[in-house]
Amino acid sequence: MIGDIITFRLQEIPPISKLIAEGKSGEDILNLLFDDMDLKIYEKLEVDYVCDCSKERVERALIALGRDELTKLKEEEENIQIECHFCNKKYLFTKEDIENLMK
Ligand SMILES: [Zn+2]
Repeated sequence: MIGDIITFRLQEIPPISKLIAEGKSGEDILNLLFDDMDLKIYEKLEVDYVCDCSKERVERALIALGRDELTKLKEEEENIQIECHFCNKKYLFTKEDIENLMK
């Protein structure tokens, strides 16, 4: 029954990879999927979800933030750690990495 609802919602929203590329967080996407459901389902989905994130995907999400946001990030932190909301994998970006993204 719950599976049916998830499948239905997935058809309603853009592909998850597209949302990530647009810079939506895992939480944003889960909210899109489960805006009126119980938190327990969130936890189950995260466990079952096979994450296909990569540094390239995170880079694209960062680029989508725009030059102003990247400049702010760069000024605030020496190294920027981005954590994937789905699998908690951590990606580390140095100042140089961020500068390269801004080119
Ligand atoms: Zn991930």
